[in-house]
Amino acid sequence: MTSLPILYIVVPCYNEEEVLPETTSRLIEVLQNLINQKKIALQSKIMFVDDGSKDRTWEIIQALNDKQDFVTGLKLARNAGHQNALLAGLMTAKSFSDCVISIDADLQDDVNAIYEFIQKYHEGYDIVYGVRQSRTTDTFFKRFTAESFYRLMKTMGVNLVFNHADYRLMSKRTLENLADFQEVNLFIRGIVPLLGYKSTEVYYDRNERFAGESKYPLKKMLAFAFDGISSFSVTPIRLVTTAGFMIFGLSILAGIYAIIAKILGMTVTGWASIILSVWFLGGVQLIALGLIGEYVGKIYKEVKARPKFIIEKHLESKEITLNFQS
Ligand code: UDP
Ligand code: MG
Repeated sequence: MTSLPILYIVVPCYNEEEVLPETTSRLIEVLQNLINQKKIALQSKIMFVDDGSKDRTWEIIQALNDKQDFVTGLKLARNAGHQNALLAGLMTAKSFSDCVISIDADLQDDVNAIYEFIQKYHEGYDIVYGVRQSRTTDTFFKRFTAESFYRLMKTMGVNLVFNHADYRLMSKRTLENLADFQEVNLFIRGIVPLLGYKSTEVYYDRNERFAGESKYPLKKMLAFAFDGISSFSVTPIRLVTTAGFMIFGLSILAGIYAIIAKILGMTVTGWASIILSVWFLGGVQLIALGLIGEYVGKIYKEVKARPKFIIEKHLESKEITLNFQS
């Protein structure tokens, strides 16, 4: 029998002193059950990443670590933001584990889905996405903004799993591939689907935060959306080019109109030529900007130096064991 996989649960925490003790006991219960069911190894752990909190978050993590073999912690020197804190945890955890699950500290994502995540892992899936089935407990505003976010990203050409946040399981090898993405503006949710591998979705209901308040106010959410779009797509640049061609086309119509108006003698001297040049130059300028943008977009892609492919398996050629008669 192959040995049991070591699971690490990575939890980014920013000012989460109110939720940590409860979160820890709920996650330990899950780990304990999985260990009893012989699904994961005894060395499995919860890894809290303190993202430069200003409250007692780190002290609590230290105290939990003293008391509990299951708890380990990582402290970032300053607040690096949710995505970076998550990445710090994933990149550290991958050296100690066979698979990693990321979850928010507030346990809005149902911890019971973890059993199914592990089940899928045993079935051979490398990536398991947790997908929110209902958001009935979210406020209308949160639901609306969050769902618009997924739609906007989609129209902008960013490939996301709908209603999936950062609650997911990743195997060790997919994390190693994730490490090959060297870009500074790392939008994890958009990158993971790019990795490929066998993946699946697990559905769960999203709960309310059981304590504390959201660390994602509207301002951070908008910044997050813009970050996602601008690090993934050149669609906004394409829009400029399209606008350029449209205005250019309009300038031809305007030109025809101006000439007719002039022939019919409905114009004052100089009107036709001014109107024509305004439309024509506007169109030409936008096209030129879009064109420059296309090249900037290309340079942007080059600078990110993303891996061009990811190799999943390599069959080694076996030694030939047939005996040839000499
Ligand atoms: N978080 C973080 N750094 C930040 C902001 C948030 O590590 O700068 C963590 C936070 O502690 C939580 C997770 O990111 O574990 C998601 O935040 P939150 O629950 O406030 O977001 P929401 O669920 O409201 O979108
Ligand atoms: Mg939350």
